[in-house]
Amino acid sequence: MRSTDGAALVLEAVDKRYGSVHAVRSLDLALGAGEVLTLIGPSGCGKSTLLRLVAGLERPDDGRLTIAGTVVADGRTWVPPERRRVGLVFQDHALFPHLDVARNIAFGLDDLPRAQRSARAEEVLELVGLRHLARRHPHELSGGEQQRVALARALAPRPAVVLLDEPFSSLDENLRAQVRADTLAVLRETGSAAVLVTHDQGEALSLGDRLAVLRGGVVEQVGSPVEVYEAPTTRFVAGFMGEADYLPAHVHDALLTSEIGIVSTVPGWGHTDVDVEVMLRPHEVALTVDRASAAVVEGVEYHGAFVLHRVRLPSGRTLRSWQQHSVRHEVGTRVAVSVVPGARPVLLRGDEALTAPPGPTA
Ligand code: ADP
Repeated sequence: MRSTDGAALVLEAVDKRYGSVHAVRSLDLALGAGEVLTLIGPSGCGKSTLLRLVAGLERPDDGRLTIAGTVVADGRTWVPPERRRVGLVFQDHALFPHLDVARNIAFGLDDLPRAQRSARAEEVLELVGLRHLARRHPHELSGGEQQRVALARALAPRPAVVLLDEPFSSLDENLRAQVRADTLAVLRETGSAAVLVTHDQGEALSLGDRLAVLRGGVVEQVGSPVEVYEAPTTRFVAGFMGEADYLPAHVHDALLTSEIGIVSTVPGWGHTDVDVEVMLRPHEVALTVDRASAAVVEGVEYHGAFVLHRVRLPSGRTLRSWQQHSVRHEVGTRVAVSVVPGARPVLLRGDEALTAPPGPTA
């Protein structure tokens, strides 16, 4: 394997069907050593199936799965879950209620002699900052503490890959940010490679080294959070990863215009004269009060730090704009709409984002 040498996890053309449902389609994905990859996509796109295939809770119908250089599933090979060097953290933490914290963690260490088992359990408890709670039972812990125990239990056998299935979604909003940061710190400290499933765009953007957007059992785009957010390759990814509005637009000699006027320049698009669509995110849209403008504020939503304005353009299309919390243009205010300096909005044709001028047949 070329670039996947030394990878923690490699999926090659992995396929999984449930009857007529094609849950995972010939999927390729590689996870580097120590890399944290977030997996996001709409409900039913195959995220859980993918994790279950890696964990060995499902068998692929086709393809090959390799964990830390060992083939664990292909047409000839089947390594059962307990031999895969995979650690699992579930949404509900799935701790054993009748065992205390230390025993919950030692549970997966039965290959080790007893003394080493408890030493390792102490070590990972220290790592997640819960050594003082070793004798408590799960029901005596807060949600955040339970999540840390689940992480410690997953890490105790020194897995090659940690799989986390929506690990923060059962936590209160105000606890989630802290537990998220703590979890990432522990993964970093142990150099663990991890795949984290989430349905939260902010989480996917802020947590991972890379993120993979899954759709219909296929990876639609994989890249760094910045790449996926700022340079989506498809309309689906563009719309899925953040708020997006679309306007018909035109590029003429590298100048992008639409009904709001000049949008930006498009480097590398000299000598072009093409119709496109421009995607604008609310943070890229600027507003200034202008009584002569035909654009009108038709909705104002207060979000605390920022205020979301919805503006109706003369064409009837709407754009959204984030404004600082002190700025609130009342409904009915006429505003001039422009694009903030330096923004490089995404251009689309059909379902594809354009990274270069489309050819004559596009
Ligand atoms: P996600 O985790 O992204 O919501 P899943 O991996 O759970 O998606 O599901 C992918 C598709 O496979 C869905 O259409 C789902 O209904 C189907 N599916 C998942 N598990 C089973 C199963 N055990 N039997 C039949 N269909 C399943």
